[in-house]
Amino acid sequence: RAKADGRNTYRFFSPDLDTKASERLLLEHRLRLAVAERAFQVYYQPLFTIEGMQIAGFEALLRWTDPELGAISPARFIPIAEHTGLIEELGDWVMREVCAQLARWAAVGLKTVPVAINISPLQLLRGSLIERLEGYLQQFQLAPSQLHVEITESVLMDISPINSARLEALAELGIALHIDDFGTGYSSINYLRRFKIDCIKIDRSFVSDMCTCDEDRALVAAMIAMAKALGMHVVAEGIETQAQRDLLHELGCDIGQGYLFARPCGAAEALRFLARRAEATEPVVLAAEGAEG
Ligand code: C2E
Ligand code: MG
Ligand code: MG
Ligand code: MG
Repeated sequence: RAKADGRNTYRFFSPDLDTKASERLLLEHRLRLAVAERAFQVYYQPLFTIEGMQIAGFEALLRWTDPELGAISPARFIPIAEHTGLIEELGDWVMREVCAQLARWAAVGLKTVPVAINISPLQLLRGSLIERLEGYLQQFQLAPSQLHVEITESVLMDISPINSARLEALAELGIALHIDDFGTGYSSINYLRRFKIDCIKIDRSFVSDMCTCDEDRALVAAMIAMAKALGMHVVAEGIETQAQRDLLHELGCDIGQGYLFARPCGAAEALRFLARRAEATEPVVLAAEGAEG
């Protein structure tokens, strides 16, 4: 029998559904509070040139630690933020925070590297993404080349006039477009000719198996060759072993990201990567350790 015991208790017919639904409601509730309080952190994962091991950029990754629920992975809360529409406000906060961070690094006299921001399909579709990005670039006196935007192929699956216009406006503004998790979407790669794509990021699933699986190795080789033929950069995601790095180097991949090189870290540690580069006369030493958290 379904019954509500009180204002804050939720009861459903099946106990299983009950647990799952109330878990999700709780998470949604906590997320709503966190968004209102801006209780998030942006972590920065460095990207390196595979050949010279020079820092080539950062990817901005959201972190959320709820006082009651503990650390919650973006893989869990981003879908909820998307579903509830909270992603607009949260995504806007990330954009502003990254721009403010780039300005702080510039203020201490460090030559910065571009920071890539993940953008949800909903952010592109709704709201005033382009105007906001433009506004933050102006406010923090940044060049558009300092920001990159990562979108997944799903955005391009349905090339609606709205999406097309937004992507063209982004390119016009001078912000580079990266295709995230490349190879995992179900869309036709037709979009590669329709839009100005600056970079593809080969999904971690291909990289993790490329040393043991001939098919994955062939696919990675083909993706790299295709990117090069089209004049795009190519990033390999989720590099965890030296063998993967060596094979990617052999296949001509430019840039790599993964725990082998560095984990996502807070802004203070990210600054040290920039400072080290500024001093470096030799390639940066691999930072395989460095716990995230
Ligand atoms: P993504 O954009 O594909 O980000 C890369 C993910 O791979 C990150 O997970 C990163 O920590 C992880 N990673 C990097 N190197 C390695 C490695 O060597 N091994 C393994 N196992 N993992 C590695 P994270 O930070 O948990 O983020 C998960 C996803 O959540 C992201 O995947 C992205 O889709 C989404 N996300 C994170 N931050 C944001 C954000 O600010 N906005 C939006 N819309 N989505 C975000
Ligand atoms: Mg990404
Ligand atoms: Mg990715
Ligand atoms: Mg991925």
